[in-house]
Amino acid sequence: MPAVYVSGISKSFETVSALQNISLDVEDREFLVVLGPSGCGKSTLLRCLAGLEYPDTGEIFIGDTCVYSAGSGIALSPRERQIGMVFQNYALYPHMTVWENVAFGLRMRKASRSDVERKVRNALQMVDLEGFEARRPRTLSGGQRQRVALARTLVTEPSVLLFDEPLSNLDPKLRVGLRTQLKQIHERTGATSIFVTHDQNEAMILGDRIAVIQNGCIAQVDEPQRLYHYPVNVDVAVFTGNPHTNVIPGQIHKTPEQVLLIPEADPYCFVGLPDSFSRLAGAEVTLTCRPEDVELVAQPSEDEGTLEIITSIPDGGRSFVHLRIGDAPRQIVAVAGARDVSGLHRRAKAGIRVVRGNIFEKATGLEVDSFGHPALPARSAVSIADR
Ligand code: ADP
Ligand code: MG
Repeated sequence: MPAVYVSGISKSFETVSALQNISLDVEDREFLVVLGPSGCGKSTLLRCLAGLEYPDTGEIFIGDTCVYSAGSGIALSPRERQIGMVFQNYALYPHMTVWENVAFGLRMRKASRSDVERKVRNALQMVDLEGFEARRPRTLSGGQRQRVALARTLVTEPSVLLFDEPLSNLDPKLRVGLRTQLKQIHERTGATSIFVTHDQNEAMILGDRIAVIQNGCIAQVDEPQRLYHYPVNVDVAVFTGNPHTNVIPGQIHKTPEQVLLIPEADPYCFVGLPDSFSRLAGAEVTLTCRPEDVELVAQPSEDEGTLEIITSIPDGGRSFVHLRIGDAPRQIVAVAGARDVSGLHRRAKAGIRVVRGNIFEKATGLEVDSFGHPALPARSAVSIADR
């Protein structure tokens, strides 16, 4: 049985439709990341799970308890749901010490003194804040405060943890540190977690699975690798780019020798495709490919198109090479090793070879086929229909 089960929930605010018919199941002990751009409905979904917002339609189960059902009028309050929530803005009580902040929830529940003692100590140890018991929030850094907020949530041992962009207000180094800590805490406690973010990098690192939300709808729910290699539509491909996804609309052509994509933006830069794509000859499609899937060819042969280099941006041991395709601002970005770019300068011509890519139907943006990607093991997903 899934730890959290959401079926057909929709939520509108006056004229804004924030969630549309969302169904989702989260397995026991799973870390599910909800990923999407700002305004797509992520917080609304979490607030519905927490009981801070009531959906217009659908139902929500936490464990085997129905906590909300529009049809039968069930609507448990936040307190009656076994959940803990950590927000972007850590609302700690400023006049209380770290210890008192963490103990607060337990005291409200009239836990015994020895229970409070043991659980608070345990929670502070989990977030690495032993020795900070007597400090007040204003004497702590942002990262430490967020760890107090996390301890305060963990201490009540909720069966489901909800996180609403808890790392977004932290500077990048702290963010990475706390992210790693969160992952370790999840491994230790095994608490089912739903973590909302707009940062695809964070999503890829934390998530057992990632649910991508676009305009209030779930576009795709998959393991990080599958999402990265097999996005279901162009928008998901673009949103999961790190830092960039090449999007090349064009038409598939078959010549006696090869199968090509002729880009709309620049018909002289054709992209070779595997022979199996000959069946799509004539189709209007969109090719997406990640920079690391584009190889630069310094001396292209007759049957490889050429592009002009705009710039090359070093990134550690490699470089992102930007090539012009048609009119600005259209570009293709390729990754090259340090040695490969030494002979390439601005305005030089280079060919490209796309070694991995995804082909989408141009009219609908939906995936048609892909090439070069690794075969991933079949999913062992619990489907909603199993319930
Ligand atoms: P996200 O967390 O992904 O940035 P939200 O769930 O906060 O997105 O918002 C989704 C949409 O619903 C947005 O268009 C937002 O303006 C709208 N919205 C959210 N809460 C309210 C509210 N209380 N009243 C009116 N509109 C709201
Ligand atoms: Mg939000």
